[in-house]
Amino acid sequence: MTVNVTVTGAAGQIGYALLFRIASGQMLGADTKVRLKLLEIPQGVKAAEGTAMELDDCAFPLLEGIDIYDNPAEGFEGANVALLVGARPRTKGMERGDLLEANGGIFGPQGEALNAGAADDVRVLVVGNPANTNALIAQQHAPDIPAERFTAMTRLDHNRALAQLSTKTGAPVSAIKNLTIWGNHSATQYPDLFHASVAGKPAADLVEQSWLEGDFIPTVAKRGAAIIEARGASSAASAANAAVDHVHDWVLGTSADSWTSAAIPSDGSYGVPEGLISSFPVRSSGGAWEIVQGLEINEFSRAKIDASVAELTEERDAVAKLGLI
Ligand code: NDP
Repeated sequence: MTVNVTVTGAAGQIGYALLFRIASGQMLGADTKVRLKLLEIPQGVKAAEGTAMELDDCAFPLLEGIDIYDNPAEGFEGANVALLVGARPRTKGMERGDLLEANGGIFGPQGEALNAGAADDVRVLVVGNPANTNALIAQQHAPDIPAERFTAMTRLDHNRALAQLSTKTGAPVSAIKNLTIWGNHSATQYPDLFHASVAGKPAADLVEQSWLEGDFIPTVAKRGAAIIEARGASSAASAANAAVDHVHDWVLGTSADSWTSAAIPSDGSYGVPEGLISSFPVRSSGGAWEIVQGLEINEFSRAKIDASVAELTEERDAVAKLGLI
C-alpha cells in the first residue's frame, strides 16, 4: 500500500527539512511506500518544484511520486497523512486577532478541503502557529472527519525538555521516561517532570525546584527564540524531526515503557475543557492517541496547566468571535 502524505508550506524551511525524512521512510517505516503531495501558495510553487527535483535526485526507493499543488482541494485529495506546516507568521505590529484571522483564512478552507477529499483514515498534524488553535479551526471545518484525527505539535517541546533534563542530570535521553508537555504550544506551555524518571529515579529528586522554575521551564518555553538568536533563523530541522516523531508514534505506536506529548482534542481529562486541542501525556496504539490517565497533579503543576489552558480557551473564544469556528 502507498500512503499519500500531503505537506503544506512544502517550500518553507521546515518543509525542506521534513520532506526528505518522510521520503526516506523515517516517518512511516522502511516498508511503507509514500506519495508526496506538496501544497503551496502560488508564490511558493516554483521553490517547491526545486525541492521536488532534489527529492528525485535522492532516488529514494520508497518514494512513489511527488505532485505539487496550489489548491487545497487537489492537494488534500486522498491524503492519509496531512502535515499542515504553512501558516501566516506574525509580523511586526500584528495584533493577535489579526494573526488568528489570517490563519483562519488558511486553516478553515484547508479543513473543508480535507473534509471533502481526504482518505477515510486521514490523520492531521498541525505545525504552523498558533498550532493548537489552527488545528481547532481546521477540525471545525471538517465535520465528517473524526475530531480526534486533528492534532497539533508539542513534540518539539517534549524533545527539548528531554534534552534539557539529560544535560542537567548527565543521563542519556534514552534513560528518561514519562516527561509531559501540557497545554498550548506557546510560552505558557508547561513541561512537567513530576512523573518523569531518570534511569529509574524520580526526576524531581534529582533537580532543585529553583532549577525547575528558573531554568528548565523557561529554557524549554523560550528555546525557539534562543535558536533564532543563535542561528539567525528559526528552528527547522528540529521542528521537522518532531513532526516525524509525532506521526511515527501515532501510526506505529509508542513504546510500552514510556509516554510522549501531543496536543489532541480534550475529552475533559485533567480538567481541560472538552474539545480544546491541548497537549497531554499520551500513548498511541492501534493508530489512535490515548491520554495517560490517573496521574496525580500537584499544586504547582495545577496552576501551570490551568494558565496554559486558560490561554487556549481565550484563543478559542477569539476565533469564535471572529466567526472562524
Ligand atoms: P517555516 O517552515 O520555518 O515555518 C512554518 C510554520 O511552522 C510557521 O507557522 C512556524 O511558526 C511554525 N513552527 C512551529 N513550530 C516551529 C518551530 N519550532 N520552529 C520554527 N517554526 C515553527 O516557515 P517558512 O516561512 O520558511 O515557510 C512557510 C511556507 O509556508 C512558505 O513556503 C509559504 O509559502 C508557505 N505557506 C503555505 C500556505 C498554504 O499551503 N496554504 C499558507 C501560508 C504559507 P512561527 O511563524 O511562529 O515560527
